[in-house]
Amino acid sequence: MPEEFLDRRGYADVARDVRPALPRYRNEIGRFSVHRASNCIACGRCVEICAHDVHKRPEGYRPVTRPLDYRCIGFDCAGTGAYCIDACPQGALSLASNPAFDTLGDRRWTPDLIASTWRMAETGHAPRHGMECETGGSGGGFDRIRIRFPEAPPAGLRREDISTKLLLNRRNDSRPRLAIDVPWYGGGMSFGSTSINTILSRARTAKAWNTLTCTGEGGYVDRLIPYAGHVITQVATGLFGVREETIQRAPVVEFKYAQGAKPGLGGHLLGDKVTPPVAAMREAVVGFPLFSPFPFHSVYSVEDHKKHIDWIAHVNPRGLISAKVSTPVDVDMVAVGSYYAGAHIVHLDGSYGGTGAAPNIAKKNIAMPIEYGISRVHRFLMAEGIRDSITVIASGGIRTPADIVKAIALGADGVVIGTAELIAVGCIRCGNCESGCGCPRGITTTATGYCDKVSIDWGTQRLVNLYNAWREMLVDILYRLGLESVSALRGRTDLLFHLDYEPGDGE
Ligand code: SF4
Ligand code: SF4
Repeated sequence: MPEEFLDRRGYADVARDVRPALPRYRNEIGRFSVHRASNCIACGRCVEICAHDVHKRPEGYRPVTRPLDYRCIGFDCAGTGAYCIDACPQGALSLASNPAFDTLGDRRWTPDLIASTWRMAETGHAPRHGMECETGGSGGGFDRIRIRFPEAPPAGLRREDISTKLLLNRRNDSRPRLAIDVPWYGGGMSFGSTSINTILSRARTAKAWNTLTCTGEGGYVDRLIPYAGHVITQVATGLFGVREETIQRAPVVEFKYAQGAKPGLGGHLLGDKVTPPVAAMREAVVGFPLFSPFPFHSVYSVEDHKKHIDWIAHVNPRGLISAKVSTPVDVDMVAVGSYYAGAHIVHLDGSYGGTGAAPNIAKKNIAMPIEYGISRVHRFLMAEGIRDSITVIASGGIRTPADIVKAIALGADGVVIGTAELIAVGCIRCGNCESGCGCPRGITTTATGYCDKVSIDWGTQRLVNLYNAWREMLVDILYRLGLESVSALRGRTDLLFHLDYEPGDGE
């Protein structure tokens, strides 16, 4: 109901304030399970003593509610003086590891990374205890790179003075010098692949945080209009829903030449997901699968690329142009070509990203890992003397603020995120994203009745909270590095080390 939505006064104005956004399922998955036996006498001792709000007694009630054990820090709590298991006069409480926890995710998105992202989305801050929220367990990529912190930050640097702004237009042309408040924005997720409520939650968060989100290639739904100043629209090979008015509305127009998760393959939306609204938006037939071809059949050279960019620049004289490319071995040449063709942003999409809709064989075997792609492009642009005239954005598996720092220190200006946002709204990385009603959490579905599992207000608050936690963590890292802005981090490879060449503690 776009009109009704647009008429809701103030709906488009979203605050960046952190507010608690509890999990939407009764049994949130946590590392530990706390059981309260039937001999509990509801004395309330555990409610008083627990420092992590596992035990609650709602006001006006005598019974204590079921333990919120996903918050429990486990056996480390013993000996802290706040261990409910020992404090219970009835011996009614027991603690055990939760075997379901270890089944979450994979080696890149470990159970700890997933659960810590959930906690950040709930509370707006980094988890206080016991969760690894910086690196995964893939054994490669960013997981083998560490940040080299000095003994102490320079005296006089204050956290509140550290800037996290990212300038997107460095060309010195007639177009706006667009800047966003954090060095990340949301990547393309199409109407069709993702539920409308997830799309709107992302857009509202982008507005609250003065950053951007992206329509993906499924067209521009009317309900995004209130957030138009923060919505990138994508022109991909299928040209689904691409219109002059949607191009004119966007502050940034992104050409999607390829995706790091499936370079050399186009998009594929299974028939189950082509519901009536999706079919209407894409001018397609309900229930029939949709393919976007690879590549653009009108672009085989830098000259063709320039014609493409000229076309969009002509249609939207105020918009910035981004070229999203995967990371083939000649990605450095692609980036230089994009600059000379007139792009403001070159968006490098490496191989670690992608939802469950991207085939594993492609995700794991085709594109160059993003950490190589970034540094290669950064150095090539420096040698060409044009590094300060184009913005380099990296994506493909950016999971945490530590990953952002590593990407920027390798030479990117900022990053694009995707999966982390889905996890914040409850994704469990089950990998069923491609099928119609398959998403058990109502995130990557377009089926009636399933989309409402994520309410727009709840989804927005979870993402607003995640962004707040990430910014706090990013500022903390910059502070410890002694840097007064995120832009001062760019290309500082001296602030990184690789565990294979310089083993750290415990390696
Ligand atoms: S301390 Fe033990 S008896 Fe008291 S409310 Fe908690 S579980 Fe029940
Ligand atoms: S919970 Fe939904 S979005 Fe997450 S992996 Fe499963 S199907 Fe995909």
